[in-house]
Amino acid sequence: MNNNDKIYKLAALGVQQLIPYKAGKPIEELERELGLTQIIKLASNENPLGPGKKALAAIQEALPSLALYPDGSGFLLKKALAKKYSIDEAQITLGNGSNEILELVARAFLTTEHEVVFSQHAFAVYPIVTQAIGAKAVVVPAVNYGHDLNAMIKAITDKTRLVFIANPNNPTGTLLSQTCLEAFIGALPDTCVCVLDEAYFEFVTCVEAVNSIDWLKKYPNLLITRTFSKAYGLAGLRVGYGLSSPQMADILNRVRQPFNNNTLALVAAEAALNDAEHLQQTISVNTLGMHQLTEGFKKLGLEWISSAGNFVLVDINKAAQPVYDALLRKGVIVRPVGNYELPNHLRISIGTAGENQQFLKALTEILADV
Ligand SMILES: *Cc1c(COP(=O)(O)O)cnc(C)c1O
Repeated sequence: MNNNDKIYKLAALGVQQLIPYKAGKPIEELERELGLTQIIKLASNENPLGPGKKALAAIQEALPSLALYPDGSGFLLKKALAKKYSIDEAQITLGNGSNEILELVARAFLTTEHEVVFSQHAFAVYPIVTQAIGAKAVVVPAVNYGHDLNAMIKAITDKTRLVFIANPNNPTGTLLSQTCLEAFIGALPDTCVCVLDEAYFEFVTCVEAVNSIDWLKKYPNLLITRTFSKAYGLAGLRVGYGLSSPQMADILNRVRQPFNNNTLALVAAEAALNDAEHLQQTISVNTLGMHQLTEGFKKLGLEWISSAGNFVLVDINKAAQPVYDALLRKGVIVRPVGNYELPNHLRISIGTAGENQQFLKALTEILADV
């Protein structure tokens, strides 16, 4: 053992075995590696239209105040969110991305004694935050690539302190009905906190009679997480939020760092909430792009998993990694999902019409080649 390696033995047990989150490849990295230009990234479910004009103007306006600490309470953003959702400011927790909320809830509620239930093929951050604490992950096999709520409720024991549900789920795009979801939450023991991760909530176009925020009145153990990273096009600024009972928000606030959201993030998110036009345009570009991609898959004889998000999983019918690598060489970054136990699939984020076309052209050439 190298002398420096001894430090690993000092890390908490869960951390010693932790496999870090693998993010989508940044455009600049591929540029450096292959010397390509005209690279497109359809790998991290970002908004292909970029941030909205209102958010950009708010950032510009806030620049001269950057010598000052941000408002650690996020007063104005919370006020805008509370108004939008007709809830109390005290029910909101702001995070450095909704990822931070996922980490705060794990840190605030879990010890090594606890179990955490989530689905196979669910978002990769759930096992990471669980393992970092040294709690036990209970992974429930998926049905049709989505959450098996019946099996998940059976997996709950008196040791289960946390259950994670992603709706729609990333990377599969599967959507649970609000009726099944509420029945599940209602059946949980009150000793179990339920995190309902709605990072892609804004993209869900099917008409839903029930709004999950209404459930907050009934279930003090419910935490809904949402984000400005996807539909609002602000992934680079890192703003997400949790909605819950005021008591749960109070608990999360105790472990939150005082200035976890920076000044630009706070003003941009508040402005983005007011930019209904940009959101509408984002959703319509997504709907058209989803159609464009799935029509392209059809022509290629490829199957895909029907998705409620701004991305789609396509079945390559063989190991997807070589196809991912070949796409990189053509300047197209998508996402392999072997780490989600889906080695034959690729996840494609919906881009602009031009980006989708460039991807489909590259994929067609690659599949014809082998
Ligand atoms: C992208 C994503 C998030 C969080 O992203 P942030 O940028 O941290 O807000 C959370 N959950 C799921 C399922 C996601 O795909």
